[in-house]
Parts: sequence; structure tokens; C-alpha cells
Amino acid sequence: MAVRPVLTIGNPVLRQVARELTREEILCADVKTLVADMIETMHHEEGIGIAAPQVGESVQVAVIEVAVDSERYPDTNPFELAVFVNPRITVLDATEQAYWEGCLSVPDLRGLVHRPRMVRVDYLNLDAEPASIVADGFLATVFQHELDHLDGVLYIDRVRDTRKIATVDDYVRFWLNKPGEQHMPD
Ligand code: ZN
Repeated sequence: MAVRPVLTIGNPVLRQVARELTREEILCADVKTLVADMIETMHHEEGIGIAAPQVGESVQVAVIEVAVDSERYPDTNPFELAVFVNPRITVLDATEQAYWEGCLSVPDLRGLVHRPRMVRVDYLNLDAEPASIVADGFLATVFQHELDHLDGVLYIDRVRDTRKIATVDDYVRFWLNKPGEQHMPD
């Protein structure tokens, strides 16, 4: 296992549509190593999710984990570490919610993003078995953010009002405690 460098905005790999993995590929050692590296990198960077293109591999793999005792995300429910291969999102409730998002690949910025409030994700697990999960609220935003990476989309593309982009310092100074807006650092 190894911590890998995280690609940042401007790197063309982040803008590619990642390719799906075959069942044989999912079960092979290379993918296990990639996933282990992604998890180690996510922990090292203190993120709550990471997608394979962010570590330079343009394949459809994403990892999400919201720690049980996360002080950084005190208002969120924990979500145990899960690996999503070839995920597909279906919107279950298109009612919009807005969170301030951040991204390991877009350093030192936050932006307000509107997304549907409830989604289902159909995917393969690391045993190449089909699985699905429903997420709402904050977790729905996390899922959509991470899976966007597999389509070459960054959250910054979805910021509707570019006046709601801020450096982390100015986000904390001017926006963090605004009523009616929710926050999802990284
Ligand atoms: Zn991201």
C-alpha cells in the first residue's frame, strides 16, 4: 500500500470519462492494490471520499467513508468504508439541496453546489457482486460528488452562482455560519 499523489484541477486525467472494469479485472490483484492505495491516500488527505482518477487511474472505482467519530463532520451520520465499482446513479428525489463542497483535487476552495437530495447507487463490490444503496441528505451529495469524478466532472462545474466560490479562509470567515446553507468540507 502507498499514499499516491492526488491530481489537481488542470490535469487532463480528471476530465476523462473513466472506463468500466471487467469482472476479471475487479478480481485481480492490481485492482486490490489500487483500492488499498486509494484508501490510504484518502486517510492521509483526511478526505471522506476519493475516486480512482484522482490518483491517476481512469477507471470506474470510488471509495467513500465518513468516520463514526468524525469531529470534522459533526453534523453527519457515519458511513462505513465502501468501495464502488462501475457505479450508476439514479435520482430518487430531485428536490434540490445545497452544500458547500470541497475537493482534494481543487485545493483551498469551497463552492456552493445544488444537487438532488436522494439517490440510489447500483454498483459492483470488490467481489464483483452487484449491490445497491440509497442515500439522502449529506451522503447523497457525497455520492454524487465522488461519482461525478468518474465522468470527468468536478464540483466546481456545478457551482451555479460563481459568487459562491471562496478560498477556505474566506469561506470560514464569510460563509460558514450563514443560516440556511449546509457545508461539506472536502
Ligand atoms: Zn472531489
